[in-house]
Amino acid sequence: MNLNGKKVAVLGCGRSGIAAAHLAAAHGAARVCVFDSDPEAVCHDATVELIAGAGEKEAREFAPELVVISPGIEADKPWALAFTCAGAPIIGEVELAYRYFGGRIIAITGTNGKTTTTALIEHILTQAGRTAKACGNYGYPFCEVALAEEPPEFAVLEVSSFQLETIVSFRPDVAVWLNFAPDHMDRYAKVSDYRQAKLRIFENMTEEQISIVRVGEKLPPIKPKVVEFSAVDGSGLLRYEGTCIKQIDTTVTDLAGTALAQTHNAENTMAAILACRAVGLKDSEIVPTLGSFVPPHHRCEFVVEEHGVLWLNDSKSTNLHSTEAAIRAQHRPIILLIGGKDKGLDYTPLLPTMQGRVKLCVVFGQIAEQLERTFGGQYDTVRVETVPQAVEAALLRRQPGDVVLFSPGTSSFDQFSSYAQRGTCFREAVLTHIHQQ
Ligand code: ADP
Repeated sequence: MNLNGKKVAVLGCGRSGIAAAHLAAAHGAARVCVFDSDPEAVCHDATVELIAGAGEKEAREFAPELVVISPGIEADKPWALAFTCAGAPIIGEVELAYRYFGGRIIAITGTNGKTTTTALIEHILTQAGRTAKACGNYGYPFCEVALAEEPPEFAVLEVSSFQLETIVSFRPDVAVWLNFAPDHMDRYAKVSDYRQAKLRIFENMTEEQISIVRVGEKLPPIKPKVVEFSAVDGSGLLRYEGTCIKQIDTTVTDLAGTALAQTHNAENTMAAILACRAVGLKDSEIVPTLGSFVPPHHRCEFVVEEHGVLWLNDSKSTNLHSTEAAIRAQHRPIILLIGGKDKGLDYTPLLPTMQGRVKLCVVFGQIAEQLERTFGGQYDTVRVETVPQAVEAALLRRQPGDVVLFSPGTSSFDQFSSYAQRGTCFREAVLTHIHQQ
C-alpha cells in the first residue's frame, strides 16, 4: 500500500493507535493525526499529533485519505463515519500491519482460550529456536511487530471479533478457530453478527493455507484445508484420553504434571501443536517445550490451599462458556463465585453443567439479582455486593475438600477497571482473610 503524501487519520489513542500512527508515518504518509473523542485523552509520545475531544467537525476538516481504526471504536457509527467524508476507506490496525509485515502469520480466534493459545504457540516456536512475537488482541500491537527493525519470522496474532470487523485483505498462513459461544451482546445486536465477524478470519484464505478447527464448530464451507481437534469428541486428528493427546494409536504427549492438563487447556494445546506443525515444526521440537509453559494469570489460577480447600482465580472468565469450562475442569465440590457487569447474557444454559458439581453459588455485582433469580430455585445461593464480601461468604461455608472457584462469567467493568484488577482484588481478599484467621 502506498501511503506516500497521504493524510492518515488514526482513530483511538491507545497503544495500537499510536503504533498505527508510527507505522503509517514510517511508510511515507505526509501527515498522520490521531483522533480521540475523549477530551481527556493524552499521548505521552511527543512525536505523535493528537486531537483529543475530536468531534465530527474536526473529522470533516481533516478529511483524511485513509482512516485506521482501533478495535474499541465501532466503524459504522457516526463519529467514525465522519472521517470518511472525502471517501477515505476505513481499515483496522491489524489490516494496516498486515500490509507491511513480511513474516508468516498464525492467527488465533475463538470465544475463549485465545490468549492462552497465543502465548503457548509463541512459547513453542521460540523454545524451538524460531523467532516469534505474540501480538494483536494479546496486548502488543501488530503494528509494533511490523515496525520492528528485525521483525520476527512469525507473528502469533490473537484476533478478536472487533479486530476482524475491519480487515480487508488480511490473510493468515494458519488460522486457529478454538470455539464459539455467545458473548459481547453489549456490542452486537445478534449472536450471529458476532459469529459473522469472527468467521472473517477465513475470508481471504485459499486452499494453500491451513485452518485448525475444533470438532463440531459447524463452520460454513471455507477454502483453507481444515485440520480438526477436540478433547471431548474423538473424530478429529487429535483427541484427548486421560491426560494424553493422541493421534490414531500414538500418544503425541502426556500432559500430566504440566499446567495444561485441564480439558480446555488440552484443547488449546492441541490447537497449538497443530498450528506449529502447519508451519513446519516436528513433534520432536514441539513436545519438549510444553512442560515449561506457564499459562497467563487469572485463568483458573491457583491462589492457595488452606484447610483442604482449594481457591482458584479465574477472573478472566468473562462469559458463560469459560465459566462452564472452569466448572467442568474441577474434581471437587464447587463453591462458585460468579457475577459482575450486565452484558445482556442469559445464564440459564449454565444450570445443567452446575448439576452435581456446584454446592453453593455466591453471586455479586451488577447482575447479582439476575443470577439469584436464575440459580436460586435450584442451588443454594447467597447474594452479596462486592468481591471481598463474596470471599467472606465462601469462607463461612467452605468445607475441607471443596474448591472455591472465582469464575465471574461476565466482565468486570461494573466495579473494576479490568479483569486483572478484579482477580487481584479476589486474591488479596482471600489471602488477607486467611491470614487473619
Ligand atoms: P481469551 O483470550 O479468548 O479470553 P483466555 O486464554 O484469556 O482466552 O481465557 C479466558 C477464559 O477462558 C479463562 O477463564 C480460561 O480459563 C477459559 N478458557 C481458556 N481456554 C479455554 C477453552 N479452550 N475453552 C473454554 N474456556 C477456556
